[in-house]
Amino acid sequence: MAEDIRIGVFVCDCGSNIAGYLDCPDIAEYAKTLSNVVFVKENLYTCSEAGINEIKDAIKEEKLNRVVVASCSPRTHEPLFRESCAEAGLNPYLFEMVNIRDQCSWVHMQERQDGNQKAMDLIRMGVAKAALLQPQEPIQSEMDPKALVIGGGISGMTSALVLANRGYQVFLVEKSKELGGLLRNLHKLAPANVDAQELLAKQAEAVKNHENISLLTSTTIKEIQGYIGHYNVTVSTNGTEDNFGVGVIIIATGAKVFRPEGLYNYDGKGVITQFELEGLFRANKFKAKNVVMIQCVGARDEERKYCSRICCMTAIKNAIAIKEKDPKANVHILYRDIQAYGTENEALFQRSKQLGVRYIKYDQEKPPEVRKDGVKVYHHLLGRELELPQDLVVLSTPLIAGEDNEELSKLLRVTLDENKFFLEAHVKLKPLDFATDGVYLCGNAHYPATIREAVSQALGAASRASIPLAKGMMTVEPIVSILADEDACRGCGLCVALCPYGALEIVKTEKGRKVSVIPVACKGCGVCAATCYQHALSINSYTDQQVEEQIRAFLSGS
Ligand code: SF4
Ligand code: SF4
Repeated sequence: MAEDIRIGVFVCDCGSNIAGYLDCPDIAEYAKTLSNVVFVKENLYTCSEAGINEIKDAIKEEKLNRVVVASCSPRTHEPLFRESCAEAGLNPYLFEMVNIRDQCSWVHMQERQDGNQKAMDLIRMGVAKAALLQPQEPIQSEMDPKALVIGGGISGMTSALVLANRGYQVFLVEKSKELGGLLRNLHKLAPANVDAQELLAKQAEAVKNHENISLLTSTTIKEIQGYIGHYNVTVSTNGTEDNFGVGVIIIATGAKVFRPEGLYNYDGKGVITQFELEGLFRANKFKAKNVVMIQCVGARDEERKYCSRICCMTAIKNAIAIKEKDPKANVHILYRDIQAYGTENEALFQRSKQLGVRYIKYDQEKPPEVRKDGVKVYHHLLGRELELPQDLVVLSTPLIAGEDNEELSKLLRVTLDENKFFLEAHVKLKPLDFATDGVYLCGNAHYPATIREAVSQALGAASRASIPLAKGMMTVEPIVSILADEDACRGCGLCVALCPYGALEIVKTEKGRKVSVIPVACKGCGVCAATCYQHALSINSYTDQQVEEQIRAFLSGS
């Protein structure tokens, strides 16, 4: 017997976000006229406790077997509504969300009538699809309780230690011979003036002695295959290959310091970088009396548009170190803008001024000129050129993305930004995750960060990675690709080549070569189903029939 479809529609005002621009009572009245709709409610906030209880009560009292919420973005609220349906005994995949806020009221603020019409169209389409939804069960997959951390700098060491202390086995892979990354070049760390080498020695010691950490230095990643819970990693240590499995991966590959070859007469002796200055401090070889620092060298220009964030504070910290050692030394910082965010950094900035560090703003169009004994700079406020004496020029250069980032991003199928740093899944909602499940990032691999920020991110990435490890079992949404028509599949592999998440493979079956979906790796993006010229693949909850019905519903209103 055909199922008696009973759809409940909940129209959200979202305070004034929707109701301020659309006539929600009229839209709710309209929803009552749609086929299979047996219950309609307008809520001030559907996601509030009161709104959620109204959904749950209606499921029980009105015997709803499909729910449609017309409100905000599924990206943020769909899990909540699905969970509420489940709590009321309805399969959560018999829920459909219609976005009448971000895609309607917000973009049609000045077009009330058209906005109302569009909201009605969207709800009509959502209801039509909801009638065809089928219950789905979450997909479960076991988790290999081990982690791979790529990069042995401060962020990699920190995240490896956190995971190891929680009892998970960690493979820490570092391509150079030593642990430490950029920390090895630093002297003191602002703002608390922590000794960088002491911190490094302490962390490296802890890593080397931890029974749960397998430290692989002089090691590069050759291949990574698999998906969350089951990554297969091949590494090469001095040419010898090894292979192991892990459940999660943290990318902590750090960044490189930009070498300002050809800029401001850089020669690594009389004109050096801030990192080289720290080297002089560490070796106790700093002697200069007249120091001129130039900011934004190779940064915030046509080639590298971004601000590296750490260079201003590095310059301020090093200027203070010079003045504290020798109050009579002259230190000038030539800058375009000063980045001293946060109260502690601002306090250091002020302290540097009190110690006598001089700041001169320069124009990008009229950059300073480094000469043999002086630096010529145009002073904006004085409106004339100054000649500053120098026996050492220090260039503040940005951190740039590591050279391995592109290769690693391909191996792991994760994205890079326009500057080739790794790009998080969502700047606010998933700042330490990638779109690919089970892969996390921290430190300078993501973007130039202070040591303190890198450590915070490392703690966060380790916490994120701990969630699936602690569960021991992965549960993923069943909105995935399915081989709906096995006979139609010709095993051509086109979909396998195009899947951005490596979630498809060709297998030999009794019927010949056929595609097979790895559901736990699939993100339900739909690329494969759209690609298959045989229509062999389909996406749960986005079947051809459901999408066609939505289109039909839209056209029926025109
Ligand atoms: Fe080719 Fe389609 Fe089969 Fe993929 S599902 S292998 S595209 S026939
Ligand atoms: Fe890959 Fe997307 Fe198809 Fe899933 S839906 S198998 S992620 S192409």
